[in-house]
Amino acid sequence: MTQKCKALFLLLVAVTLESSHPSSAQANPSRPLPNIVILATGGTIAGAASTSTQASYTSGAVTIDAMLAAVPGIRDLANIRGEQIANVGSQDMTLAIMLTLAKRINILLAQRDVDGIVVTHGTDTMEETAYFLNLVVKSDKPVVLVGSMRPSTAVSADGPLNLFNAVGVAADSKAAGRGVLVVMNDWIHAAHSLTKTSTTAVQTFMSPLRGLVGVCAYGKNDFFNSPPWKHTTGSEFDITDVNQLPRVDIVYGYADMPADLIDASVKNGAKGIVIAGVGNGNMNKASLDAAERAVKAGVVVVRSSRVATGSIGRNVEVNDDEMNFVASDELNPQKSRILLALALLKPRSTAEIQNLFYSY
Ligand code: ASP
Repeated sequence: MTQKCKALFLLLVAVTLESSHPSSAQANPSRPLPNIVILATGGTIAGAASTSTQASYTSGAVTIDAMLAAVPGIRDLANIRGEQIANVGSQDMTLAIMLTLAKRINILLAQRDVDGIVVTHGTDTMEETAYFLNLVVKSDKPVVLVGSMRPSTAVSADGPLNLFNAVGVAADSKAAGRGVLVVMNDWIHAAHSLTKTSTTAVQTFMSPLRGLVGVCAYGKNDFFNSPPWKHTTGSEFDITDVNQLPRVDIVYGYADMPADLIDASVKNGAKGIVIAGVGNGNMNKASLDAAERAVKAGVVVVRSSRVATGSIGRNVEVNDDEMNFVASDELNPQKSRILLALALLKPRSTAEIQNLFYSY
């Protein structure tokens, strides 16, 4: 082995050893604790029921201070302060709240004394907010979304440990540069890939096609993956002066689907339509015709899929080139809607929008 090869080999071994070891914000007790801001938006993690075994509860009933008080030891991980951005069940999350949240994160992360952000959020639409932030946050510092499946008052509430782990990830410098992350039930997901898969189970979030970014337990983290798509500081989307996003609708595909839902969407002012198609982003002949009419009326049509995993390829069973459609690649319908709404902020050709779906 030449000297150069030997040096390279040793470097590789060092990097491998380093990256396969769990890291944590507490790794070096002589270093000052990182400063983390928790931005609360509501959700079940802030939910309360009148008894501890009740299935029904109200999302977004508990404040950030009460949530922090329920997590012993969390202040050993970081200096923490909280801000309430909203207090809603995430079924009531809006693009307007997402814009407010993103702008606040950009202001906070530009400050030298803020090292990372945790966003508490309902799980129903967490993947949409996470993906939106992944596209518009302008910082490499960690941004971590967290929620829970059980309300704060439940037996075995999952929120406190999830919050502890989320702060542990946000406080860990190894989380930086991996885009917006979601921490739930000991798993660290990339915003691009995760999706909610169970209506009630604690282990609801999966990243079926690409796998996890890492795992975490009691404030110790093990990162083994970095998302390959563009995000945050590598993203071209800038919402500094944006106060409203264009309307993009999602039309669900099924056997014998009526095509007039696509026409109705155009009539109601949608600038983009995502088809949650069957299989590889397919739809029946009547819907294909309606989608073609929509394109001719100036609406951008993206073919995604109602299927939980797999990518949507161009020109497989639908001639996208001829019909001027966009294929969503790996994005599910709800994330396709977010990317398309941002893409439509300025005039872009179908080819350019297709390229965004390959890049983000
Ligand atoms: N409906 C709730 C929400 O998304 C569910 C949850 O947080 O788990 O806010």
